[in-house]
Amino acid sequence: MVSTSAQELSGQYATHDVTNQPPPLAPYDASEDTALLEGLRREGAGWAEEDIRRLGSRAGSVEAQEWGELANRHEPELRTHDRYGHRVDEVEFHPSWHHLMRVAVAEGLAGAPWADERPGAHVARTAGGLVWGHTEAGHGCPTSMTYAAVPVLRRQPELAKVYEPLLTSREYDPELRVPTEKPGLLAGMGMTEKQGGSDVRTNTTVATPTAEPGVYTLRGHKWFTSAPMCDVFLVLAQAPGGLSCFLVPRVLPDGSRNTFRIQRLKDKLGNRSNASSEPEFDGTVAWLVGPEGRGVKTIIEMVNCTRLDCVMSSATLMRKTLVEAGHHVRHRSAFGARLIDQPLMRNVLADLALESEAATTLTLRLAGAADRAVRGADADGAETAFRRIATAVGKYWVTKRGPAFTAEALECFGGNGYVEESGMPRHYREAPLLSIWEGSGNVNALDVLRALSREPGTAEALFAELALAQGADARLDAAVTRLKSRLATGSEAGARRLVELMALTLQASLLVRHSPAAIADAFCATRLGGDWGHAFGTLPDAADVDGILGRALPGEG
Ligand SMILES: Cc1cc2nc3c(=O)[nH]c(=O)nc-3n(C[C@H](O)[C@H](O)[C@H](O)COP(=O)(O)OP(=O)(O)OC[C@H]3O[C@@H](n4cnc5c(N)ncnc54)[C@H](O)[C@@H]3O)c2cc1C
Repeated sequence: MVSTSAQELSGQYATHDVTNQPPPLAPYDASEDTALLEGLRREGAGWAEEDIRRLGSRAGSVEAQEWGELANRHEPELRTHDRYGHRVDEVEFHPSWHHLMRVAVAEGLAGAPWADERPGAHVARTAGGLVWGHTEAGHGCPTSMTYAAVPVLRRQPELAKVYEPLLTSREYDPELRVPTEKPGLLAGMGMTEKQGGSDVRTNTTVATPTAEPGVYTLRGHKWFTSAPMCDVFLVLAQAPGGLSCFLVPRVLPDGSRNTFRIQRLKDKLGNRSNASSEPEFDGTVAWLVGPEGRGVKTIIEMVNCTRLDCVMSSATLMRKTLVEAGHHVRHRSAFGARLIDQPLMRNVLADLALESEAATTLTLRLAGAADRAVRGADADGAETAFRRIATAVGKYWVTKRGPAFTAEALECFGGNGYVEESGMPRHYREAPLLSIWEGSGNVNALDVLRALSREPGTAEALFAELALAQGADARLDAAVTRLKSRLATGSEAGARRLVELMALTLQASLLVRHSPAAIADAFCATRLGGDWGHAFGTLPDAADVDGILGRALPGEG
C-alpha cells in the first residue's frame, strides 16, 4: 500500500496554479500619454503640465481606481421620505463617489476655469478630465453640468453675481443646504420630458409668473434629470412668453426645501455610479435666466460646453481601455508567445492607438478653440465659428467610435474582458451614452447642417483649419476636395456621411500637422485612403505598427 501525504497530493494534482495572468495595472500614470501632453502644450496650457501629471498619477493609483470600481458597484439609492413620512427626495451615494467628486472639484474639473484668467485654463480643465476620467465616468456628469452652467447664468447678471463664485469654487460640499451658505455648489440640467428630449419645444412644464419680477413657479415633470443632488438646476419650461430657461434651487434662501419630487431613479445600462432621476415640479420656485421665450437660445451655451465634455469622455474611455488592453497583452501569452508580440494583435492595438490619438488630439483642439472663444481672444471670430461647427462634428464622430472601440479593447482580454472584475464591461457600457445625451447622433449631424446653412463663417472656419494641412498628404487633399463637392450636394438623409467625412478630414489634418509620420500616414491610408477593413485590426502591411505602438504604449510595445 502506498501512503501519500496531502502535501504530495496537492503538488501532484494542483488544480489552481495561477499562471499566465497579468499583474494589476494600478498603480500607473494616466498622464503618460504623449499625444495628450503635446496637445496640452500646443493649445496654450503647458503651464498646467505639472498638475496634469500629478492628477494622472493619482487617477491611476490603486486607491482612486478602487473608488471608481466601488462607486459603480454600490449604486446610489433614492430616499423619497424620512422615517416620519416627510418628503426628503435625497439620493445616497457610496463614500467613493464623494471621494471622486471631492478630487474632481478641487482639481478644477467643475466650474473653476471660469474664475481662472490664465489663457488655456479651459484646455487645462479638459486635459484634467482626460486623465482623471481614468477613474470612472459617472461623476463627470455633475462636474460637466456645473462647468457648463456658468456661461448660461451670465445671461442673468444678478443671479451670476451670487451663484457664479460658488459654482466656480473648488470646494465640494454634498449636503443640501441654503446655496449661499455653502462653500461651493454643483449645477444640473432639466430639459428632457417624456414626450421629447431632442425636440424640447414640446416641453409641457409650465412656468407661472409670481408678483415678484423674475420669480416664477413651475408645474410639470422632467423625464431625465441627472445628478439630482446638485444644488441648482437649469430647467426649461413654458412661460407666457414661450419656452424659457430658469434656475431652480433645491433649497430656498429661507432654508426650506423647494418642491423637487424625485419619482424614480433610472435603471441604466451604464453610468451606474451617477443617479439619473425623474423629478416633478409643483409650485416649485424658479428664477428666470435670460429673456422669456428665449430658453433654447439661453441654454445652448450649456450644450456647447457639455458636448465638448462628451468628446473628452469618449477620448478618455478610448485611452483608458487601450492602456488596459496594452497591459493585458503584454503579460499574456498564447501559442508560445506573448500576445503583444503577435503580428495580428499588434495590428489591433495599433489601429486602436490611431483612433485614440485622433480622438485626444481633436478633443484638445476643440478645448483650445473654446478657451479662445470664451475669453474673447478671437478678434476675427474664426475660433468661435470653428468651435461652433467642430464641436458638433467631434461630438457626432468621436462618441460614435466609442462603443466599437471599447468592444475591441475588451476583446483583447479574451473571456477575462467579458467579466466585471476586469473593469472592461463598465467602460463598454458607458460608451454609448456619450452619443445619446447632449444631442444624439442624428441630432448632432443635423445640427452641423443647420450651422452650415444658417450660421455664416462656420464652413469657412472648418476649411481654413483644413487648409493648414494642405499639401502634407495627397489622400487628405483628395478627401477635402470630396468634402467640398459633398457639401454642395448635401441632403438631410446624407448628414451622417457628410459629418463623418468632416470629422475624418479634421482629425487627419491635425495628425499630419502634429503627430509623427507613423500615425499620420496610417490614419490617412486607412480612414481616408480606403486601405482598411471594416473592423479594427485591419491596418495595411505598410503601416508602421512599431512606430505607432512605441508612441502610444511606451514600455509596452
Ligand atoms: C443616462 C442619461 C442621463 C440623462 N440626463 C439628462 C439630464 O440630466 N438632463 C436632461 O435634460 N436630459 C438628460 N438625458 C436625456 C437625453 O439628453 C435625451 O435622452 C436625448 O437628448 C435624446 O432625447 P430623447 O430620449 O427624448 O430621444 P428622442 O428625441 O425621442 O430621439 C430618439 C431618436 O431619434 C433621433 N432623432 C430625433 N430627431 C430626429 C430627426 N429630426 N431626424 C432624425 N432622427 C432624429 C435621435 O437622434 C434619437 O436617436 C439623459 C439621458 C440619459 C440616457
